[in-house]
Amino acid sequence: MKKKISLIVPCYNEEEALPFFYKEISRVSDEMNNYDFELIFVDDGSKDKTLETLQKLSAKDKRITYISFSRNFGKEAAMYAGFINASGEYVAVMDADMQDPPSLLPEMAAYLTSGEYDSVATRRVNREGEPRIRSFFARAFYRIINKISDADIVDGARDYRLMKREMVDAIIEMGEYNRFSKGIYGWVGFKTKWLPFQNAERIAGETKWSFWKLFKYSLDGIINFSQVPLSIASWSGILLTGIALLIILFICIRKLLFGDPVAGWASLTCIIMFIGGIQLFCMGIIGQYLSKMYLEIKKRPHYIVRQTNREDTVKKVQ
Ligand code: UDP
Ligand code: MG
Repeated sequence: MKKKISLIVPCYNEEEALPFFYKEISRVSDEMNNYDFELIFVDDGSKDKTLETLQKLSAKDKRITYISFSRNFGKEAAMYAGFINASGEYVAVMDADMQDPPSLLPEMAAYLTSGEYDSVATRRVNREGEPRIRSFFARAFYRIINKISDADIVDGARDYRLMKREMVDAIIEMGEYNRFSKGIYGWVGFKTKWLPFQNAERIAGETKWSFWKLFKYSLDGIINFSQVPLSIASWSGILLTGIALLIILFICIRKLLFGDPVAGWASLTCIIMFIGGIQLFCMGIIGQYLSKMYLEIKKRPHYIVRQTNREDTVKKVQ
């Protein structure tokens, strides 16, 4: 029997890119005629004609499921909805803008069928077309997060990958509200083959990631997959207490030996401000974790479906 590949495509304002994407994916799926295909397009609350485009496509291609959210829930939620509704033995996530080349699919599938790997992931080897400063921060982020978390996160890794059912089930099992896929993929483990490819510019439309959004996303990644920032808070507390003890000792001895001239207003102010700063910084770190816990505990749905063309779609997950 033919194996089925489910392709999950999160789309947010992709009306311009979708026709190109559909053409390419049709070509690739025709080429891979030893597999069945299921295309799950998740419309993440787009404000343009993405939904209409998807409806038109699904009318002529029965392999297409579209799931349209009630508002923009973010790419992570869109991918999660895709995973939950995918029925194939193999499941892939792919961007709609062709920055994740569909032409890599046959090679990826071949690795999985060989039985040696559970997942085939892709990695950009260059960052051409990206602002320098962004590349710089991206590299720094990967260096830091790999030092301080136990999830293995590869520099330049895309969300684009093909996985076996077992891995997808493990990912679904991780039902956390604050999702950071790059970390989740690494955390669940499994044998992964990395395929490098050259970065391509998006075919149409615009990227949804501003520098500020990326920065916040990377901080989220760190907080979701590492407790090290919390220990920074306690270690800096211990360090400062130690220093304070030394200073007290120094002042006592000086008082005994030389008396106590009144001096040092300026340095005192600096010290108070320094310690106050560290305290607020550490409280901020704790606050970050607390806010994540707050969101987890509320058990809000990851996404809410407004419209879909498949009856048995899982409409929300808590
Ligand atoms: N995307 C989404 N929801 C969002 C933002 C993005 O579903 O809130 C989708 C988008 O349509 C695209 C993919 O996620 O298919 C990657 O987005 P983009 O190309 O903007 O990111 P980049 O490639 O620049 O990292
Ligand atoms: Mg893109």
